Order: sequence, then C-alpha cells, then structure tokens
Amino acid sequence: MSTKNNVKVVVRVRPKLSEDKLWVDVVDDTTLQTVNPRDTTKTDQYEFARVFNSDCSQVDVYNNCAIDSLKHLMQGLNVSIFAYGPTGAGKTHTMLGTPTAPGIIPRSVNGLFQLIEESKEEGWKTEVSYSYLEIYNEKVHDLLVPKEQDLAIRCDLRGKIFVTDLAKEIITNKEEFNKSFGLAANNRTTASTLLNEHSSRSHSILILNVTRTQAVEPFARRHGKMYLTDLAGSENNRMTGNEGQRMRESGAIHFSLLALSNVVEALNKGQARIPYRDSKLTRLLQDALGGNSHSCLIINVAPEESHLYETQQTLLFARKSKRIINTVQKNETFVTPKMSAKKRRSEGGNNEAPIP
Ligand code: ADP
Ligand code: MG
Repeated sequence: MSTKNNVKVVVRVRPKLSEDKLWVDVVDDTTLQTVNPRDTTKTDQYEFARVFNSDCSQVDVYNNCAIDSLKHLMQGLNVSIFAYGPTGAGKTHTMLGTPTAPGIIPRSVNGLFQLIEESKEEGWKTEVSYSYLEIYNEKVHDLLVPKEQDLAIRCDLRGKIFVTDLAKEIITNKEEFNKSFGLAANNRTTASTLLNEHSSRSHSILILNVTRTQAVEPFARRHGKMYLTDLAGSENNRMTGNEGQRMRESGAIHFSLLALSNVVEALNKGQARIPYRDSKLTRLLQDALGGNSHSCLIINVAPEESHLYETQQTLLFARKSKRIINTVQKNETFVTPKMSAKKRRSEGGNNEAPIP
C-alpha cells in the first residue's frame, strides 16, 4: 500500500549579519514578504507550510521538520530533508549547526537512538548505519573512506537507488556517530569565493540506514533510509567572479541545481518522463523527489538588501517545489528465521543491476 504526500516546503530566514537594510519580512507562521528586486516600491508575498523567522531556534526547526521523519524512518519508509539556498543563507547551520547549537543531523541521530530505546520492548532488533558522500563537479566521493574514484549510482532489482562501494559504518549510539562523523566532515571539499570565504562548492549527503527485524511472527524486516542533504550554494555564478577551477565547480553546481529545478517542474506538470538522470544529484535524490519518500525542503534565505536578488530566485524555486506529490510506500519484507542466507541477501537488496 502506498500513500501520496506533498513535499513539505519550509523557509528559514537567518538572523542579520550586517547593518544592511532588511528586505525580507516574516508576516506570520506561513507567510513571507520581500521587497520586489525589480521595483522596490512593490512587495512579493509567498506562502509555505511554515516560515521560521530569524529568532527561531535549532530545536524549533528540528521539531517541525525532522521528528515525524524519524518516526517514518523507524517504520521502514524513505525520508529526506534537504537545505537549499545561496551561500551564507544558513544551510550548514541548519543541517549541521555548531557544538552549542546542533542542527538537524546531530539532533536526528540523537532522536533516532531515543526512539530505538523506547521501542525496544516490542521485540524488534534494530541496526543503524550511515554513509556520507559529496557530489563535487558531478563526481560522487565517499567522505567516510575517501577514495580516488567517482562512485557509480545504480539501482537494485527493486528499483532502489544506491551508490556502489560506498562505505557504511554501523553505529550503536550517538557518541559513536559524533566521533566518526566529526572526522568525515573534515573531508568535505570547501574553497573560498568572493561571496563567502567558506562557501561550500559541493552537495553533501548523509544517509542514515535503519534496518529493523522482528524476532517473532510475522518476522517483518523493514529498511528505512534518511537522506540529509546540504546542497551547494544556489547563487548565480556570474556574481562570484570565478575563473578556472572555480568556474568549473560553479558550472557543475549550476548544472545539478538546474537539473533539480527541471525535475521539480516536470513533476509539477505531471510529465510522463521526469529527467532524474540528468545529474548525479537528481539521480540520487530520485526517491526523495516525487518518489517513495516523505520529504522536507528547507529553504534558507538571508534577509539583507544585498541578497535580495538571490532571495527572490530561491523563493521562486521554493514556490515551484511545494506542489510535488510523493508516493510513499513501506520497505517491508517478511523473513522467517529459517530462510536461507542466499534468499536473505537478495531480500536485503544486495543484488545490483546496472542502470540501463
Ligand atoms: P551556508 O551553509 O548556507 O553557506 P552557513 O550555515 O554557513 O550558510 O551560514 C552563514 C553564517 O551565518 C555562518 O556564520 C552561520 O553561523 C551564520 N548563521 C546562519 N544561520 C544562523 C542562525 N539561524 N543563527 C545564527 N547564526 C546563523
Ligand atoms: Mg554551507
């Protein structure tokens, strides 16, 4: 059985970082107003599932965007949360945060282990593992165990997307995760641009896998997957004054975010062919966009006048996205303890089929 779901689109306005005029206004919990960049005597209004003003806390965002996703993850569903917006708008703050204000990633891992603890009585055995990768210049890199090669994205016999040879680390508590993830985060490719010294030029995706096996009849086995994505800056590259290598990166970022935008548009128009294969990013996020997933898109915007054009571009993208309908289906099979090892392997989705 499957259910249809809208992608939940929320907007978060970061606190002001300069004395620049503020041209973004949170009208209420669901309405955002900006000055129109072409005619500053006019304003534009946008409606979203939720609009977080600059005073909102990391806990508010986690409670609204992630808690339900964790429950779905435990039930064997695919869930996805991703942060979209220009460099400096607060994507990494939202996803990763700081040691004193942790973001969605550390809070979700913590919340997941709490849920597992609470559901122990029910006779389920749970295994949690995670992978961490980045898409940089249209190449997929493992951030857990860095390797030279570009990893291939494939789909298994049931049509589920996976990355070949991607390292997976089993974690049994949040401390284990924090230790191993802290090292992996340092492997992320960052370089400076005129827009922001620490601008991220790659999309980073953390995948949390939860496999739950029932020890008693009917021996259900559920695989839930959570994608937590911090996208590269969505800014217009002409403004960054990039050359050479930086220009190539900008091209790749533009290309993949354009592909993302085309996927969103094709879904909204109900087109038969959705161009997921046009970029690595859309291929990987296929299940999360219009597919078998509960998804939340967090749009990060900066409130200052100097960011107004990018803010408008970001909000126009966001407005398109909120019309996507996802089909959500539980990834559940039933495995009796006597089932052969070979059958178990195939049930576990280890069979690979190259993308045709
Ligand atoms: P991005 O990842 O989109 O490029 P960052 O998350 O790095 O942006 O945010 C840019 C700067 O703004 C950082 O110094 C970050 O700490 C700060 N910042 C962003 N959002 C918030 C917030 N909600 N509260 C406090 N500081 C924030
Ligand atoms: Mg960032």
